[in-house]
Order: sequence, then structure tokens, then C-alpha cells
Amino acid sequence: MHVKLIGYTSDPEKLPAMAATLTHSKTKPEELEKLPKNKQAVILEQVMNLGHTSVIEHASFTFAISDVSRSLTHQLVRHRIASYSQQSQRYVNLIEPTYVIPPLIAKNKKTKEAYEQTMQAIWEHYNKLLKLNIPAEDARYVLPNATCTNIMVTMNARSLLNFFELRCCLHAQWEIRMLANKMLQEVKTVAPRIFKNSGPACKTKGICPEKKKNCPLYPQ
Ligand SMILES: Cc1cc2nc3c(=O)[nH]c(=O)nc-3n(C[C@H](O)[C@H](O)[C@H](O)COP(=O)(O)OP(=O)(O)OC[C@H]3O[C@@H](n4cnc5c(N)ncnc54)[C@H](O)[C@@H]3O)c2cc1C
Repeated sequence: MHVKLIGYTSDPEKLPAMAATLTHSKTKPEELEKLPKNKQAVILEQVMNLGHTSVIEHASFTFAISDVSRSLTHQLVRHRIASYSQQSQRYVNLIEPTYVIPPLIAKNKKTKEAYEQTMQAIWEHYNKLLKLNIPAEDARYVLPNATCTNIMVTMNARSLLNFFELRCCLHAQWEIRMLANKMLQEVKTVAPRIFKNSGPACKTKGICPEKKKNCPLYPQ
């Protein structure tokens, strides 16, 4: 899995700070562009603590995500407050086998072998259909959830907070959790105040929505 923050609102903490200041001020928004850094920091800290997070919707972040499974992207695109562009299985022939192996399967020789044999067989069938002049858009029906894909996603900071709450949780599926953690690391470097306390709900809200008492984080 490769995850890279490839674009974001320039100075992503300034616009939300301006927006928050505007709501309690007679000053016109364009005049708030000169808001000093220390005041930006104070106001942003306040809105984040109060949970008035609509102002952070003014900051957006774009990620390039590659070599993840279709199983992951199926879960990812359920997050509706976002924009996506994904490699097409209609226009791109995946002639060579390209798939993700879950670590639990990879760590055991027998399960890994069985898995790889299954993938090999699937791709043989896929290529056979292509050779029989079946278009990629139909041949792809035999491809597995494990098939590798590439996707670009843009989310605003508020949507990201929700995404991290749901997907950094230990209850989330391992692959999307890995993605969420990588994305969180990336945005923390460019917007540390917005994402300082971001993470699973047990961290942000002090509650476990999943009520998973066997989770190692639950008692905390
Ligand atoms: C551990 C886990 C297990 C899951 N298992 C399943 C499963 O078995 N089956 C399944 O189908 N899904 C499952 N999901 C997906 C889940 O139900 C959500 O679809 C997904 O997490 C996106 O969350 P969201 O709606 O909060 O995000 P977004 O779509 O980004 O929405 C963000 C927020 O905007 C608001 N919002 C967005 N759209 C609307 C709307 N139309 N009406 C009102 N408010 C809206 C809501 O407040 C929402 O929380 C699972 C998710 C997790 C984390």
C-alpha cells in the first residue's frame, strides 16, 4: 500500500481560523487574511475543543492511494463526503495477476500457497475470457476482491475526522485501518492543530461505539 498526500489547501489552518473569527466579528472576511498566526492558533484550538468543526470544511486534502485491494476501496467509497477517481476495470486490462494478500494468510505457508493458486486460476480464467473477445468490462466479473487498484481521494478536514474515528478503530478491517492511519500521519504534518486529537472514537469521544469489551483500548 502506498499513500501520499499530494495536495491540500495552502495554509490549511488559516482559512478555518478566519471562518471561525468571522462568525463572531464585524470584520469583513477579506480583512481577516491578516489574522496573526498566534490568534489563528488560539481560535482554532477553541473551535476544535468545542467541536464546532464546520469551519474546518474549508480545508481539503487530496491523497494518492495505490496498490490497495478492491475490498478496501469498496469500503472507502462508502464515505460520501469526499471525491474519488479510481482506475477503471473497463478501460484497463489487468492481464498480469495483481492482488493483495492479507497478512494472516501470508504468514502461513499452506494458506499462502492455497491463496496464490486460487489467484493464478482466477487470472487464467480472466485472460481466457479476454482472448475469447469478451471485453474487459465483462471479463472483470471473475476478478476477486483482492485485486489491486489505485484511487485518488479528496476529503475536507471535517469528513476526515469522521473517517479517522470510524476507520482508525481497532474494530475496523485491517487494510482500511492501515490506510486511515497512514492518511492521519500525513495530514498531521501539515495541519497539526486540526488533527492533534484525531483518531478512533475512544480517543476523540472517550466512548467505544462498538462496545467491544475484548478490545485492548476498551478499558481506557
Ligand atoms: C467497523 C465498520 C463496519 C461496517 N460494516 C458495514 C456493513 O456491514 N454494511 C454496510 O453497509 N456498511 C458498513 N459500514 C459502513 C458504514 O455504515 C458507513 O457507510 C461508512 O462508515 C461511512 O460512514 P459515514 O456515513 O459516517 O460517512 P460519510 O458518508 O462520509 O458521511 C459523513 C456524515 O455525514 C452525514 N451524512 C452523510 N450522508 C447523509 C445522508 N444521506 N443523510 C443524513 N446524514 C448523512 C452523517 O452524519 C455521516 O456520519 C461499516 C463501517 C465501519 C467503520
